[in-house]
Order: sequence, then C-alpha cells, then structure tokens
Amino acid sequence: MSIDIDIAAPVGGPALPQERRLVTSIPGPRSQEVLDRKAAAVSAGIGHTVPVAAVAAGGGVVVDADGNSLIDLGSGIAVTTVGNAHPAVVAAVQEQAARFTHTCFMISPYEPYVAVAEALNRLTPGDHMKKSALFNSGAEAVENAVKIARIHTKRQAVIAFDHAYHGRTNLTMALTAKAMPYKSGFGPFAGEVYRAPLSYPFHDGLNGADAAARAISVIEKQVGAGNVAAVIIEPIQGEGGFIVPADGFLPAIVEWCRANGVVFIADEVQTGFARTGAMFASELFGIVPDLITTAKGIAGGLPLAAVTGRAEIMDASHTGGLGGTYGGNPIACAAALAAIDAFENDGLIERANAIGDILRSRLEAMQAADPRIGDVRGRGAMSAAEFVDPATGEPDAALTAAVAKACIAEGVIVLTCGTYGNVIRFLPPLSIGDDLLNEGLDVVAAALAAH
Ligand SMILES: *Cc1c(COP(=O)(O)O)cnc(C)c1O
Repeated sequence: MSIDIDIAAPVGGPALPQERRLVTSIPGPRSQEVLDRKAAAVSAGIGHTVPVAAVAAGGGVVVDADGNSLIDLGSGIAVTTVGNAHPAVVAAVQEQAARFTHTCFMISPYEPYVAVAEALNRLTPGDHMKKSALFNSGAEAVENAVKIARIHTKRQAVIAFDHAYHGRTNLTMALTAKAMPYKSGFGPFAGEVYRAPLSYPFHDGLNGADAAARAISVIEKQVGAGNVAAVIIEPIQGEGGFIVPADGFLPAIVEWCRANGVVFIADEVQTGFARTGAMFASELFGIVPDLITTAKGIAGGLPLAAVTGRAEIMDASHTGGLGGTYGGNPIACAAALAAIDAFENDGLIERANAIGDILRSRLEAMQAADPRIGDVRGRGAMSAAEFVDPATGEPDAALTAAVAKACIAEGVIVLTCGTYGNVIRFLPPLSIGDDLLNEGLDVVAAALAAH
C-alpha cells in the first residue's frame, strides 16, 4: 500500500496548520495499527469515539498518525478549553517538571497548590470566605464534596437528579442516573443516594418554579429535609444531554437548601472555566453554591480537580480526613495556573460567547430546515441539538449516531450525549477559529441532510 503521508507536526499547539485535511480514510493504516494493539492490550471496557491515534493537537484541530487533521468540536470532553498544548501550559509544565514532579502535598506542601486554591477561592461565585482542596479527577472531587457535606451537616442523605452524571467511581455511579453504560452490572452502589426530578423544559414543559416544587416535594416526602446532607446538581447537565433548566429552577433549589441546612453542591466539572460564556455556569443562573466541584477545563489537559466552598464547610473535616497521594500534583497545578491566567486575561469568556453565537445561529438554521432537530440549547461553547422523530417526538438515537459517525468519517470530531442518546453536543476548544468552526458545522449540516 502506498500512501502519500503528510508527516504530522512533531509538536502541537496553535502553530499546527488550522485545517481539515484527510489524506486517508478514517482510520488510516497507522491509526489502525494502534487500534489493533489497543484491542489486544487494553480492557474492552474502555471504548473510544473517534477511531484514530492522535499524535498532535492544538488550536482547533487533532492530527492523527496518518497525517489526517480533524476539526475538534469536543475538546477531549470539555477539557482542552484553553486549547490543546497551549504554549503557556506547555511552558509551565516543562518548567515545573524540571524542578520537582512530586513531594505529596500532605508530606511537604508547595506553593503552586496554594496558588491554585487561592485562584479558585477568588474566581468561584460568592464573596464569602472560601477554601479549596485539590484532587485528581472530577469523580474524586464529587466524592470529596459529599464527604465534606456529610461531616459538616452530620447528616447522610444526598440528593441527585434525573439525567445526572457525576462519574464512574462507586459513590459517583450511585449519583449518576444512566444505567448503560455507566452502572449496569457494577452494583451494589453506595447507599443514602436519592433521585429527584429535574427541570427539562423540552420534555416536561414546566416553568422553573413548578419544576422546583416537584423536586422539593419528592425530597421532602421520600427523604425528609432533616436527613439531607447535600443536594448535588450540574447547573447545565453534561452527559445527560446539555439540559438547561428553566429559569428560576436552580435559585428555588438553592433557597430550599439554605432554609433547611442542606449543602448545595454545584458540579461544574463540565461547565466550569469559561465554557458556558461565564467563568462558572452558576453565575448564569444567579446562584451561589455552598460547594463547587471543578476538573476538566481547569488545567489545559493535565489531571486536576477541586472542591471549593464556604470556609466553615470546607474546614469541617478533621485533619487527615481529606487528601490523596497525587491530589494537587505540582505539574498539574503549574498547568492550572497557566490555564487560569489565560481564562482571566486572554478574553476567553468573550470568545466562548462568540463561539456560542455561531453555534446557536448555525444550529437554529439547521433546525428551521429540518424538523428532526427538536431542540437547540446550551450556553456559550457548550451547545447542543436534540434529535427526535418529528411525527412522534420520540428520541432518535439512530439518526444521532449516524450523523455523528458521518461527521467523524469526514474529519470532524463531534460527541453525542443524552439519557436517550439523541443529542449531539458541541464543545469546541476556545482556541478554534471562526472559519474552522463554520467548516465543521458545514460538515454536520451535510451529514444531517444525507441521512
Ligand atoms: C466528567 C464529569 C465528571 C467526572 O469527571 P472525571 O474526571 O471523569 O472523573 C463529574 N461530573 C461531571 C458534571 C462531569 O461532566
């Protein structure tokens, strides 16, 4: 087989040619070789969406082992929000790696961890006294937020919502709503987790106040306010389908929590750090969480997560009750400080809103021409289209999967989500250019028209 391979750039970042370029079918032979080795060596439980082996990424593209350049509308699930291999992140990582790679913050602390905590305390909503603790993954942050809420309130019950996604560890599986693929066969799950109905305007037609009253009634009748340690919710649900609650829903839930001594936890692991056109999505709904969990976009791709919140709640644990060997790794903290500097000083919130305007107008134009798009929703660079059968209104997961697959074959990375598998979500890196974003959406429109 003779293929004209355009050699992939050895480094990524914004200097990569910003173009969609297919030099083989997807996957090409070099990617296929890696995928064959994956099938033989890696647990079958770990799937993949895009059948390529990545070798470089940056700006708005991912380059594969065969030299194909794909438009990135997924950011590795909302992680590379500042852009992949962002130069300031790369420099911070290199510098910190050359100094020291680990001491364990619980053994000998170091300044970058403290600086990340200070930045999170400053940037998260509310002007009350705050403290933070750092961890490795979103699920670990959620687990720790629940631990902190329980020891603070001396209560046990935790309320999560329909369509929630909070992770894949045992407690977070219990909090997550969807059985397949996240929970099926993996029980028994952690106890004292209860589920309340969400506000999902496209499906329930309820206003925010009525949806909140419905949820509060379930909590009070089935759990009892005095037993509830925490309510945890994603301000805009991610994996569950980019569900934006009706106006007033979140403030009413927060108000109920305050009145009943319940810790309100906003899981901003996916929505955080400029993604939604605000530093944190809670701001869009005018709410101030007691605790906020962050991860994904926090460190430009390095594994880092945090719980940030009211100092008196964050200090409730005895010393040594929180922590972990790697939590707040110094390289990840250095990366986070560089990424946070970019969020604050490089106009990324404005960029997320500009990207959101393009996404919304393009998706609404597609919807106007095609009744199979039942709903267009989201905020900023976290926007989505929900696909239905126009005759019945029933979710159309088959169409959604076919369109996403066709986009990937044409060199555009799109992700699906939703309890019913019928949502295509758009999470482009904020470093993508308008032309590339529009070209990616042209491919989506063409794929939809062809199916
Ligand atoms: C991804 C995600 C998690 C889990 O984060 P991991 O780093 O994968 O453990 C938790 N909550 C939300 C809202 C998420 O989107």
